[in-house]
Amino acid sequence: MATIDTETVGTTRKQMFQKIMQLSLIFVLVFAVSCLVSFAGGRHRAAKQDPKAETTASSEKTPKKTDKTEKTGKDGDADDTQAPEGTTSFDPEKVIYLTFDDGPWKYTAQLLDLLAKYDAKVTFFTTSAYPEYADLIKREAEEGHTVAIHTYSHQYKTIYASSTAYWNDFNAQKKVITDLTGEEPTLFRFPGGSSNTVSNFTPGIMTTLSKQATAKGLVYFDWNVSSGDAGKTTDSNTVLQNCKAGVQTIKDPVILCHDVKDFTVKAMESFVPWAIENGYTFLPLTKDSPNAHHKINN
Ligand SMILES: [Zn+2]
Repeated sequence: MATIDTETVGTTRKQMFQKIMQLSLIFVLVFAVSCLVSFAGGRHRAAKQDPKAETTASSEKTPKKTDKTEKTGKDGDADDTQAPEGTTSFDPEKVIYLTFDDGPWKYTAQLLDLLAKYDAKVTFFTTSAYPEYADLIKREAEEGHTVAIHTYSHQYKTIYASSTAYWNDFNAQKKVITDLTGEEPTLFRFPGGSSNTVSNFTPGIMTTLSKQATAKGLVYFDWNVSSGDAGKTTDSNTVLQNCKAGVQTIKDPVILCHDVKDFTVKAMESFVPWAIENGYTFLPLTKDSPNAHHKINN
């Protein structure tokens, strides 16, 4: 009996132990499942919130981005429209009208090379004194310079003999230019300038010619800065200093130079880069350019 009793007790204990184990397992399983559910829920909530957060964030960011884009867009546009002005750095207070008389001749090509290098545009008051260089008139026009009339012969005694003689000479040079460039020139410079007294042998001729020119719709230019190369100077440095001083003291300087003088062309090799470095722009004359008329003395 005692053994049976021991066996019975043993069996009961075993059963209890098994039940406890089963309960524990269930408990652990329930706990594990609830943990998983809550974790998944949390993730789900998080996942649900995240898009909201992203949307909010993006909805905040987007306008900001748009603002930025619009701003940069506007700035960009503004920069784009302002850039050409900025890059050309054109200062209307610092314009130089370089003018070259009496060519083309053997130094003109060298001068044109220099002007092209610095993208400087000038005005040539041309002659036919050296007809073998006439083709350079075409090049002057092609490279954006103003080709204007000076005189065909540059013979004072002939051209200032009468107004008829003057206009005959004028028209001969006009034809040369028109034939070479395909365009009729309308700007000119009187040989010796409108203030010349070399024409005194025909009293009043400059007064007559200047009035006739205006009546014909022609525009003549004198100058307000002299490079000095028409005088006694044969020195490049003097020409350079005259040009530098002129542009710093005269508004809208129209500088008288001669491309038939080697020392002038040499001076330009220093003057042109100096002027550009100092913010000046070289422009060709047009009929609307500020005029530099002298007082007529005859
Ligand atoms: Zn001349």
